[in-house]
Amino acid sequence: MTSSPPDSSFMGEPDATGRFGRFGGRFIPETLMPACIELDAAFRDAWADAAFRAELDELLSSYAGRPSPLTECHRLSEEIGVRVLLKREDLNHTGSHKINNVLGQALLTKRMGKTRLVAETGAGQHGVATATAAALMGFECTVYMGEVDMERQKLNVFRMRLLGAEVRPALSGSRTLKDAVNEAMRDWVATVETSHYCLGSVMGPHPYPWLVRELHRVIGDEARQQTRALLDGADPDVVVACVGGGSNAAGIFSGFADTSAALVGVEPAGGAAVGAGIPGVVHGMHSYLMQDEWGQVEEAHSISAGLDYPGVGPEHAHLSDIGRAQYHPVTDDEVINAFQVLTRTEGIIPALEPAHGLAWILREAPSMQGHTVLLNLSGRGDKDVAQMMDILEGERS
Ligand SMILES: *Cc1c(COP(=O)(O)O)cnc(C)c1O
Repeated sequence: MTSSPPDSSFMGEPDATGRFGRFGGRFIPETLMPACIELDAAFRDAWADAAFRAELDELLSSYAGRPSPLTECHRLSEEIGVRVLLKREDLNHTGSHKINNVLGQALLTKRMGKTRLVAETGAGQHGVATATAAALMGFECTVYMGEVDMERQKLNVFRMRLLGAEVRPALSGSRTLKDAVNEAMRDWVATVETSHYCLGSVMGPHPYPWLVRELHRVIGDEARQQTRALLDGADPDVVVACVGGGSNAAGIFSGFADTSAALVGVEPAGGAAVGAGIPGVVHGMHSYLMQDEWGQVEEAHSISAGLDYPGVGPEHAHLSDIGRAQYHPVTDDEVINAFQVLTRTEGIIPALEPAHGLAWILREAPSMQGHTVLLNLSGRGDKDVAQMMDILEGERS
């Protein structure tokens, strides 16, 4: 019997060591190895089990609100001469794509006989989604958050506590997301009998980058069907998504990897891991990272707290290497403009993260006249309205 070889070129499985080309892998202390091996086996088994897939599909539809619609932007398209379509992940329960991943990992936790979720969070969005899934399933939940981020994102800290989660401050290093990931991994090693580490993006040691991408594949699968129905069987010319760790981008790209659509990831100029990063190892993976001249991981800076990750998932590093996807930076000013453009022309207030994707579309519109562009609208802007008020009203006074 022969099985087909792993195909790491077009968003198939990574190789046996968890690598996408030269990126990925499993750079972890020995104490974490059994946990990653157990998780890999459990996910492989679950993902091949029709009953598990059916249970997840049911949750995604009855609880999260899938399938999310495809919206054609008539007024915006008219204005910029590019046909813009939105995949509406902003309409999911908890307001972003993140629910797809946490519901999958929560079901997997139950299947492994575990009763507690551990998670890291930066801006708080993944922490809130994880606390939501824990409440739904009756799990204990501990979320690690940098002390600095806890101060900046008080409302999300309160939300997580309302949902029954314990929020523990990460007090080491710069006291931000990178430190929260380290603390969460430390907790997981010590409690692996009962706990699952619910990682929030396509990063970390194998199997996470692959596992999280598979749980977001639903975005791309739905979008491919929806765009083909709308475009008489054709695919969009370009598929665009913002990139923090890279999970919403990986989800939508996976539906179009084998088509002729161009794939474009958009990064904040102050956190362009693919565009300006150097290969290195952090959080158990080999990928592009923002590093200083001494190899220290640098803080990312962006108007959008959800994109403040100094690294990027290894599969994106690979897709960039082989030229299947391109990654471009946009500035905070371009993002502030894009946020207002979508709000005024379509009546949709986007999160600042996907406003990065739109900012790139607006900039490139002159060279894409008449083309069809699909943007993954990864989240809604409610969480960002107060920040935008400070920026825009501040400008006026
Ligand atoms: C968290 C978040 C992101 C960034 O994470 P990825 O893993 O890069 O998708 C993007 N958009 C929204 C709305 C988010 O909440």
